[in-house]
Amino acid sequence: MYNSKAYAAQSAESGLDQTTIERRNPTDNDVQIEILYCGICHSDLHQVRNEWTAAPTTYPIVPGHEMVGKVTAVGSKVTKFKPGDLAGVGCMVDSDGTCPECKAGYEQYCPNVAFTYNSPDKHTGKQTYGGYSESIVVNENFVLHIPANLELSGTAPLLCAGITTYSPMRHWNVSKGQKVGVVGLGGLGHMGVKFGKAFGAHVVVFTTSPNKKEDALRLGADEVVISKNQDEMQKYMGTFDFILDTVSADHDINQYIFLLKRDGNITLVGAPDNPIPVSSFGLIFGRKSFSGSLIGGIPETQEMLDFCGKHSITADVEVIPIQKVNEAYERLLKSDVKYRFCIDMASLKSA
Ligand code: NAP
Ligand code: ZN
Repeated sequence: MYNSKAYAAQSAESGLDQTTIERRNPTDNDVQIEILYCGICHSDLHQVRNEWTAAPTTYPIVPGHEMVGKVTAVGSKVTKFKPGDLAGVGCMVDSDGTCPECKAGYEQYCPNVAFTYNSPDKHTGKQTYGGYSESIVVNENFVLHIPANLELSGTAPLLCAGITTYSPMRHWNVSKGQKVGVVGLGGLGHMGVKFGKAFGAHVVVFTTSPNKKEDALRLGADEVVISKNQDEMQKYMGTFDFILDTVSADHDINQYIFLLKRDGNITLVGAPDNPIPVSSFGLIFGRKSFSGSLIGGIPETQEMLDFCGKHSITADVEVIPIQKVNEAYERLLKSDVKYRFCIDMASLKSA
């Protein structure tokens, strides 16, 4: 074991503060990574503040599941990475590797998946600790290759916000000629806009923040609708092939179900804790479907990163020192992020 500086929360109310954690020394199949940038996902905030009934938080928690960094050491059996390589780690660090989900490349749905933080850590007997730290040690099967042409701070958020929007859009065959809605212009939403456009769709952003209108257009959206304006919403009834809902708080999903065409789908990736009431009539009339999606498997995450390399897609980030993380969480809650906070981990080294 060795020590690594990190930022942790000690309780739901404590906020995050500097601490020291233990990391395992790399075993045969492990890659040790010096973390250079780590994105801040709204899931970090949900989990730090223990907002999810289905996934209670064990403290202390070190969040962070959007990491890019440099490989500093590899175990003797590692074949995919060598010291000096760029490397990414997302929301998962292990799975059983034998179940039907793992065999199909859907490690995120493995019953024994280990998430990057707040999961039991079979190596240490404690919890897994995430990317708000100097370094991490991960089985090579859960480490991703980073395209060399991408700017690193904007690449870190691809490891969660990127794959979480890419995967359902691919699953529902978002393509040229389709009309696609993205609800909520935050970290996930702004990546949804970029992928929707890259896949050739006509993209409409639904936002509660009128001041994001210009940005939405700059990010590539074809149209922007202020979702609180019922007259404006009315104009879009029955016109969408697919809608991606990225909202982090309680909201009315039915107003979007009514915007779908026959056989249209709305996929929820946002994860507010409360159950969501869904109108039966909204779904029945038009054979519409309402579904969910969790991040994406490792093969698809690599596919997404390669796609981003090819099309020069990165997140729009506001880079912050780790000392500003609590402030960033407060701004996230006010939907005041353009469009992903990303921590420059050099700020932890010098702390
Ligand atoms: P974020 O950056 O905070 O963006 C969320 C956006 O939702 C806000 O910018 C805002 O957009 C909108 N919003 C917030 N409160 C709202 C309200 N009361 N009513 C309507 N709209 C509201 O968060 P994020 O990091 O993108 O994450 C979004 C959600 O996805 C979180 O719940 C997170 O836990 C979840 N998530 C799920 C997965 C998965 O695998 N399914 C992966 C990552 C994250 P406007 O200002 O444009 O309205
Ligand atoms: Zn996330």
